[in-house]
Amino acid sequence: MLDNRPELPPEIARRRTFAIISHPDAGKTTLTEKFLLYGGAIQMAGQVRAKGEARRTRSDFMQMEKDRGISVSASAMSFDFKDFRFNLVDTPGHSDFSEDTYRTLTAVDAAVMVIDGAKGVESQTQKLFEVCRLRDLPILTFCNKMDRESRDTFDIIDEIQENLAIDVTPASWPIGRGRDFIGCYDILRDRLELMDRADRNKVAESIEIKGLDDPQLKEHVPADLLDTFLEEIEMARELLPPLDHKALLEGTLTPIWFGSAINSFGVKELMDGIGTYGPEPQPQSAEPRQISPEESKVSGFVFKVQANMDPKHRDRVAFLRLASGHFHRGMKLTHVRDKKPMTVSNPVLFLASDRELAEEAWAGDIIGIPNHGQLRIGDTLTEGEVLKVTGIPSFAPELLQGVRAGDPMKAKHLEKALMQFAEEGAAKVFKPSIGSGFIVGVVGQLQFEVLASRIELEYGLPVRFEQSQFTSARWVSGDKQAVDTFTNANKQHIAHDNDGDTVYLTRLQWDIDRVERDYPDIRLTATKEMM
Ligand code: GDP
Repeated sequence: MLDNRPELPPEIARRRTFAIISHPDAGKTTLTEKFLLYGGAIQMAGQVRAKGEARRTRSDFMQMEKDRGISVSASAMSFDFKDFRFNLVDTPGHSDFSEDTYRTLTAVDAAVMVIDGAKGVESQTQKLFEVCRLRDLPILTFCNKMDRESRDTFDIIDEIQENLAIDVTPASWPIGRGRDFIGCYDILRDRLELMDRADRNKVAESIEIKGLDDPQLKEHVPADLLDTFLEEIEMARELLPPLDHKALLEGTLTPIWFGSAINSFGVKELMDGIGTYGPEPQPQSAEPRQISPEESKVSGFVFKVQANMDPKHRDRVAFLRLASGHFHRGMKLTHVRDKKPMTVSNPVLFLASDRELAEEAWAGDIIGIPNHGQLRIGDTLTEGEVLKVTGIPSFAPELLQGVRAGDPMKAKHLEKALMQFAEEGAAKVFKPSIGSGFIVGVVGQLQFEVLASRIELEYGLPVRFEQSQFTSARWVSGDKQAVDTFTNANKQHIAHDNDGDTVYLTRLQWDIDRVERDYPDIRLTATKEMM
């Protein structure tokens, strides 16, 4: 063990719970598919996408999702690879859904960052990386699409080091580029991995090499490519840091593998890397004390709620990350916020092929708990102890709009729908203290369309979003008297969110600056912890 934590029970120690972060089109779906293929969860490449499409048509869930080809919902997938149990938590790729993505990242112990070898670090990658950085999440990097024309290897590494301010160590090194790319040298295990261009699903030929002067290299690598490779690898050894496991776990160093997901190339090496170097389930911050995975009592927290996974039933699934213990189906847990017992009799585990009942689960696992709205994002379940998991953020929306029901008689229905989406974390809903109606806040424009279409689909209620006089929202905090004075003097700007917390709505950054100047005892914040 590198840290001073006690040794974990083997079942917990073998778990690796992670997410993939990337810019759209870098190859996340393709890589996921290959993970599942090697994890034995699917038999054939292409099934993930096919499965996704079949599900969507069956449930007719979100025509828009199909039309636009973006994944609105995130889910979790479990599979075994060698001695490891991988829990891959899927993040929606589109930037409009970043808040959901952010919260997903609170449920994982590591992230795999996929970049396109020709494009390097793109905007969405950068954004997601910053979130991982907030939590010092360990990052493992996969540079994809090496079968195509790609950038110079040092360029790619430099760009990651500079833009993301993280050290990079090569775990493998590409040989040849673009059409001349023949494979990689596995630096961690001294092997030559040769890509088979003829068969995309064939696992690369792997040859053990005894150091860089092994004559076998000459047999397999054309002379001109070999010269360049030897020069580069020498330079890399001089210029780049070696793999330091501690730095990796602290999130200050990322190993990079080069490969081609679509050609199944480099994927197994990456999986080996996640298993060997990736973190075990980590302690979870909570009040009044931290939770350690090896504790015998079960605890967990909800990081995502998905409604209407099956539109025929008005059920929701709360995604629970187990923070500690060994969970058995049928366990009675305490819903800490509600102070009520809750028997978890039909938890689901998400295997790639389908969801199935989870008979048991361990710290690090993600289980789905069907419920009728009792479970909200940020909720903690324990075996009785009053613990509250912390660090699950809610972000101030970047776009605000008013919303009106097409049929004014149905205002109550609208309120119900809006509350549901607020609890799911799909939108922020604010009730202004003056006047009627609601203001809805989202992170990206597309979310308004998704909401409108879901309200119509799920509640049979056509709605219209319209411009609001406000553009920003900030949560108000401070001592009660200061908050009262402030809210009384600024009534036309005050609203309450669905948890009843006070919010300051405004049009201008200038307003926010003014409040901060005129009310030194008030704090306006762009994030709040989910309760
Ligand atoms: P996502 O948006 O990040 O999920 O990306 P996808 O996995 O859907 O991939 C985007 C596109 O890149 C698809 O057309 C893939 O077939 C293609 N792609 C993925 N991996 C590779 C690769 O290794 N090489 C090449 N040439 N194309 C790839």
